[in-house]
Amino acid sequence: MKLEGKVALITGGGRGIGRGIAEVFAEEGADVVVNDIDITAPEVDGVVQWIRSKGRRSKAFQADVSKRAEVETMFEEAWSEFGHVDILVNNAGIETIVPFLELKDEQWTRVTDVDLRGPWLCSQTFCKRVVAEGRKASIVNIGSVQAAKIIAGRTHYAPAKLGLEALTRNVSAEMTPLGIRVNCVHPGFIATSMTEWILNSPEILPEILKQISTGRPGEPREIGTVAAFFASDEASYLTGQSIHVDGGWVFK
Ligand code: NAP
Repeated sequence: MKLEGKVALITGGGRGIGRGIAEVFAEEGADVVVNDIDITAPEVDGVVQWIRSKGRRSKAFQADVSKRAEVETMFEEAWSEFGHVDILVNNAGIETIVPFLELKDEQWTRVTDVDLRGPWLCSQTFCKRVVAEGRKASIVNIGSVQAAKIIAGRTHYAPAKLGLEALTRNVSAEMTPLGIRVNCVHPGFIATSMTEWILNSPEILPEILKQISTGRPGEPREIGTVAAFFASDEASYLTGQSIHVDGGWVFK
């Protein structure tokens, strides 16, 4: 197992891609701290129970990743419950679709706060603790193909995701010498609640699938397997990198 003995904290782990990552990590031997903005949602308890059913430890911690005080409390609680955290997956993210000329300040701010400030805050809080303890660790950021591919109505989301790729490289350059590798997975079109409206559209779905070499949406666990590799010691010489896990969408 790739992640035996490690503790991973996955933001936005209550459903979708976060759940897929949590499942693969637990199967690979990790204990999993599940973060979500609302841990009273039944889906969150569902993930925690699923992980426990595999013989791993798991607990949910509430935090809005864009709020410093909540993030610091979450890491404090996770450390005191699990003793240490070895892997941070910055997965929590939101997407809205708004034409450029109609985009409002608050829409720009909320998307960039959650999708870019959140990973920055979580990474900094995590790294301060890991560096103070002198442990080795790994961060995996969940970006988007939209860092490279233009899809209308995402003039807030796409820059946040491209910023996350730059954050990956820059945090990697400062933290790898201290023992923390940092990499980024850019998912393509993955079947989750974020993409439900496309999956349920008989007009839009075939148009999107035509653009993808594999001709189908990805599954959350297909992001989880790549994230597990990046987080594992098998990727010990890999840092500052970003990869498209998109079934052949960006490069078709
Ligand atoms: P999802 O199904 O909407 O799940 C996202 C999870 O994150 C939800 O549980 C959500 O909680 C939580 N969350 C939202 N804002 C948060 C915050 N401020 N703090 C903590 N948790 C928060 O989305 P997904 O499709 O799994 O997406 C996961 C990541 O992959 C995102 O970063 C997204 O941008 C990226 N991505 C997705 C796709 C795709 O095709 N699905 C493609 C490329 C990239 P609530 O439900 O309570 O809001």
